[in-house]
Amino acid sequence: MSKPVVAIVGRPNVGKSTLFNALAGEMISIVKDTPGVTRDRIYADVTWLDKSFTLIDTGGIEPDSGDIILSQMREQAQIAIDTADVIVFITDVQQGLVDSDAKVADMLRRSQKPVVLVVNKVDSVQKYMMDVYEFYNLGIGEPIAISAANRTGIGDMLDEIVKEFPEDADTDEDDDIPKIAVVGKPNVGKSSLINKLLGEDRVIVSDIAGTTRDAVDAKVKWKDREYIFIDTAGLRRKGKIKEELERYSVIRTVTAVERADVVVVVIDATEGVTEQDAKIAGIAHERGKGVVIAVNKWDAVEKDDKTIYKHTNRIREVLAYMPYAELVFISAKSGQRLPRLFETIDAVIENQTLRIQTGVLNEILSEAVAMQQPPSDRGKRLKIFYMTQVGVKPPTFVIFVNDKELMHFSYTRYIENKVRDAFGFRGTSLKFIIRERG
Ligand code: GDP
Ligand code: GDP
Repeated sequence: MSKPVVAIVGRPNVGKSTLFNALAGEMISIVKDTPGVTRDRIYADVTWLDKSFTLIDTGGIEPDSGDIILSQMREQAQIAIDTADVIVFITDVQQGLVDSDAKVADMLRRSQKPVVLVVNKVDSVQKYMMDVYEFYNLGIGEPIAISAANRTGIGDMLDEIVKEFPEDADTDEDDDIPKIAVVGKPNVGKSSLINKLLGEDRVIVSDIAGTTRDAVDAKVKWKDREYIFIDTAGLRRKGKIKEELERYSVIRTVTAVERADVVVVVIDATEGVTEQDAKIAGIAHERGKGVVIAVNKWDAVEKDDKTIYKHTNRIREVLAYMPYAELVFISAKSGQRLPRLFETIDAVIENQTLRIQTGVLNEILSEAVAMQQPPSDRGKRLKIFYMTQVGVKPPTFVIFVNDKELMHFSYTRYIENKVRDAFGFRGTSLKFIIRERG
């Protein structure tokens, strides 16, 4: 099941970033070798009790832009309505209720999305509680008083948020159908690809479970198997500011990737792979999704016998953090190698859910350890006792050792390579958890 998406909406200076940082805190996943992705804090993974969700800061409004604040707020609220399962609307008790709050509240109410109304900067309950009641007038439910700065009221707020999460998606009849997100920069050919796959019988299933999503879902049949393609190119939003557009496209990509089993990252062969491609692919990597790199417009590339190797090498170089990613050279225009794309997607789905028996794993492990001695530090040598697979999507392994400090990143990488040599796992990242055992 995909994680719910929670979006924060509110005027400038009400404390959105402060709340975002308080919630993301230590829990923000830092993947050091993924370029760019985690540095801009547009989204974060948050866990409260036994529930996890993706938190999005729709932010990006310039506080000094005066009378255009309202139109920007509407834009922001629309992004939240389009992409989120729950919207957290933040107001500021010290500034009081203002007109634009009321207008945005109207918009949120009409969307029928679950909204949690939060009144921030209630640093002293005694002093401000009477003012909090005023926010009932927004007509979007009971205001929850918090102080993001003092971190009070946050638990109650999180309780209200998780209460609004949809029931387990098991009731969704499409749940067994693999979901494929098609992501990439503008103009790489995402829409062309989806349209080609759909051909004549385009079936739009965007209102699954009654939610409106900004990504358009389309069901595709291939050799008696069904797939749901999530098209992030579907709707284009006319934004004036470049940063705003970029933020919006990151949000769209993150929410589509979140719902997907496999992510097809489309890149433009005529342009070559870029840092922006690496950033987009990094979102899939970070979330442990299956990844296929579709090198599109292959028809338009002038080729000799070395062209494909040159492209492959360059892509491997720029996407060095995901050597496992599968590459397919396609043309959305001519349909070239689309069968290969489906075969690759199928293989990646299989690898994402592959389970290896503990006995077999430990044979690989003892062979690996015999071939290359584990590292030691100040006379103490790393001992690896045992390894077992504890999960899938992505395949997750626990390695039990005598001392975690001794388990270097490079040695984990070495074991990962041995596991890959034996079982492939093409197209999926692998997760290794190191545990100490006395
Ligand atoms: P954003 O523009 O909505 O992201 O707002 P920020 O998070 O940047 O906060 C705006 C200002 O409000 C900053 O000076 C924060 O320190 C302050 N602030 C945020 N939360 C609180 C709070 O709970 N109490 C008080 N008194 N100030 C806060
Ligand atoms: P999107 O923004 O990623 O959805 O990209 P589009 O699907 O709108 O395609 C952008 C441009 O690239 C359009 O002019 C397409 O006709 C062109 N295009 C897409 N796929 C191919 C392809 O496989 N070969 C060639 N030569 N052009 C393509």
